[in-house]
Amino acid sequence: MKQYGVNELRRMFLEFFESKGHLAMKSFSLVPHNDNSLLLINSGMAPLKPYFTGAEIPPRRRVTTCQKCIRTGDIENVGKTARHGTFFEMLGNFSFGDYFKDEAIHWTWEFLTEVVGLDKDRLYPSVYVEDDEAFNIWNKEIGIPAERIFRFGKEDNFWEHGAGPCGPCSEVYYDRGEKYGCGKPGCTVGCDCDRYMEIWNNVFTQFDNDGHNNYTELKQKNIDTGMGLERLASVVQDVDSIFDVDTVRALRDKVCELAHTEYKKDEQKDVSIRLITDHIRSATFMISDGIMPTNEGRGYVLRRLIRRAARHGRLLGIEGKFLAKLSETVIEGSKDGYPELDEKREFIFKVLDQEEEKFNKTIDQGLSILADMEAEMEAKGEKVLSGENTFKLYDTYGFPVDLTKEILEEKGLSVDEKGFQAAMEEQRVKAREARAVTNYMGADATVYDQIDPKVTSAFVGYDSLTAESEITVLTTDSELTEALTDGQSGTIFVKETPFYATMGGQQGDTGVIRSENGEFEVQDTIKLRGGKIGHVGRVTKGMFKVSDQVTLEVAAKKHADTCKNHSATHLLQKALKTVLGSHVEQKGSLVTPDRLRFDFSHFEAMTPEEIEKVEAQVNQEIQAALPVVTDVMDIEEAKKTGAMALFGEKYEEKVRVVSMGDFSKELCGGTHVANTSQIMVFKIVSEAGIAAGVRRIEALTGDGVFAYYKNVEEQLQEAAKTAKTTPVNLTEKIEHLLAEIKELHSENEALKSKAAKDALGDVMDQVRDINGVKVLAAKLEGVDMNGLRDLGDQLKEKLGEGVVVLASAVDGKVSLMATATDGAQKKGAHAGNLIKAIAGLVGGGGGGRPGMAQAGGKNADGIDAAIAKAAEVAAEQMK
Ligand SMILES: [Zn+2]
Ligand SMILES: [Zn+2]
Repeated sequence: MKQYGVNELRRMFLEFFESKGHLAMKSFSLVPHNDNSLLLINSGMAPLKPYFTGAEIPPRRRVTTCQKCIRTGDIENVGKTARHGTFFEMLGNFSFGDYFKDEAIHWTWEFLTEVVGLDKDRLYPSVYVEDDEAFNIWNKEIGIPAERIFRFGKEDNFWEHGAGPCGPCSEVYYDRGEKYGCGKPGCTVGCDCDRYMEIWNNVFTQFDNDGHNNYTELKQKNIDTGMGLERLASVVQDVDSIFDVDTVRALRDKVCELAHTEYKKDEQKDVSIRLITDHIRSATFMISDGIMPTNEGRGYVLRRLIRRAARHGRLLGIEGKFLAKLSETVIEGSKDGYPELDEKREFIFKVLDQEEEKFNKTIDQGLSILADMEAEMEAKGEKVLSGENTFKLYDTYGFPVDLTKEILEEKGLSVDEKGFQAAMEEQRVKAREARAVTNYMGADATVYDQIDPKVTSAFVGYDSLTAESEITVLTTDSELTEALTDGQSGTIFVKETPFYATMGGQQGDTGVIRSENGEFEVQDTIKLRGGKIGHVGRVTKGMFKVSDQVTLEVAAKKHADTCKNHSATHLLQKALKTVLGSHVEQKGSLVTPDRLRFDFSHFEAMTPEEIEKVEAQVNQEIQAALPVVTDVMDIEEAKKTGAMALFGEKYEEKVRVVSMGDFSKELCGGTHVANTSQIMVFKIVSEAGIAAGVRRIEALTGDGVFAYYKNVEEQLQEAAKTAKTTPVNLTEKIEHLLAEIKELHSENEALKSKAAKDALGDVMDQVRDINGVKVLAAKLEGVDMNGLRDLGDQLKEKLGEGVVVLASAVDGKVSLMATATDGAQKKGAHAGNLIKAIAGLVGGGGGGRPGMAQAGGKNADGIDAAIAKAAEVAAEQMK
């Protein structure tokens, strides 16, 4: 068998599947695109998920890739054995609802035996225990004897992640021969030793699991395969492990060369050699995808890999920085499949150098402080480093906590993790409280202060909405960075930009920045000290690094709308001066794509006529199609032309004077339409006072006006619909309705007073004479307290002098009132006491003055008794 190299095998695989109608796609970035469930791409299938779920349409239904992958779940064991690693390449062929088991199995066999030339007698397929279909293909079609096909259960040969698509697998094992075996009886496919190595796995995505293990056949069945490239190479090259295959061995040898040592001479050193070999591969690939060493997320994974490698370099006695040198060997070995490594070589070296240097500075100090802490622990007989000390090392000396743990573990000591986390959280809370106002979209106010003051940006957007330029500075939300990658938010600075930065009331531009490798959505553009223009936004695809050549493109429609609104403010200012008088001065303005706002000095509200006049004048100047011309001149010269300037504003030596025909001339750095006719139309939507002597106008132009009228029209339609008429007849309809309401209202009043009189009925018959005073105590039907008081007054009038007691119930709620005239009071009548004496009978309480009192109650059944008692009490009072 020919001992193909890693690069040869990769090419052979991709070409083989291309010959079977597959589209060979470039490896996807290690940074997952639009997928928050993953930190790093960890399988060939991961970046293809949208094609499997149907969220995106694949470029072809047959695809093949060799995908760079990183898995850090076993990072603690990397180096300790030759089996573990964080970086690997995965070969795969995929079918999105196209071919299925039959083709997949045949091609597996064809590639392994005919293309690579593996010995058929050493290959053993396995299938899922219930998958007779796959078994029969291997047995009857390929011709493998039944006893050489292994049937495994769910845990080995069924791919499933909770609910959703799932299916059986079929693996292929290779017998590497007795020299790799454990020699135990029963050593066969499935044994833990290194003899039978799984090299290929086909997943037949065939079922849908409803979440309760009820399986239904999928309409669109998929094929998802995976084969570790380094593992295949170790079989083909008949070497011990992935650390011995050609490209990886070259790197391993380079590590040995730098450390002046040899592999397999000293077990302790081998651990470090393998660890460095693995980690520098991961780090090189991660940096090439724009990941930067930081303290969180994938950036932290990278920092940890680099720092672990650097430290093990020290353990091997390597002096000075060495990671970039190793990275060069990684690039040489892998650039065949990953040309981006070669393109970014200088950048990769720079990032590795910087991080290694940072680490070297902290490590000596950290190690010596950790040594002191260890001595202290030993003196006290402690085995666990306190959380406080661990945090101190991390926070004050920048010593990574994983490193502290590793160093202590080597000596049988450990770290108080909980204590460390608690100290960390405390710090986080403090930092949050202490953080001054974050200035922009969460960015620390200080991040822009770290930029070299020599960096400046030129605005070239007066004449063009696109430009080519070079990235000078990149920042994340909190720090300067060499690169930004997919999904990260940050700020891009370039030498020349067509993006207008928020200034003079005009809102900054939005748009997109593109490079060969990435796309950045500009959400805002900001002006910073020292003439710097920052493009704030988010990487939506790929990556960006400092010095990249980029194309900047302003969102044209929004920009055009902003220009219309800005030019309109100039016309508005002049129109206001004309209509209201020369005392009008600009006090502020805001210009966005959607609207404009203009604040000005004026001492009273504008009348509707004034507003109409101003609006009409602006529209007249729009229709006059005045050319908008900008002249750059000295400030003194500009003032002589009579151009309007902002009082108290500091201007540069050279200023821009924007003229609109002979109508308006203003000092202005903003962007404008070329001719006033482009504004189309102008509409004031509000005018109001915002401070003493300052008014604010809000207005719209162009499409904004049409949108405004469309909205008004819709509201009118809605109102007409509600009133069951048409917009034209709406006013008439409302007048009718109002008249009808008025009529109904007076009718209602008349009915109410009639009802009260009816309730009064013949109560006057019940008037009694007690000691020469007329007393009326009566029960009425359905009258509330207000009604009772009205009636009481009427009755008192009819009686002349006397006492009136009325009771009534509405919905079970009882109202009682009593009133006594002055004459009656002189004879001893007291309304308050009277009420007090009878309220209990209706289950309530109350009281009042001698002339007037009232009470409420809940017991309507007691009204008759209360009325009867009222007469008795009145008689008693006037005895
Ligand atoms: Zn074995
Ligand atoms: Zn202006």
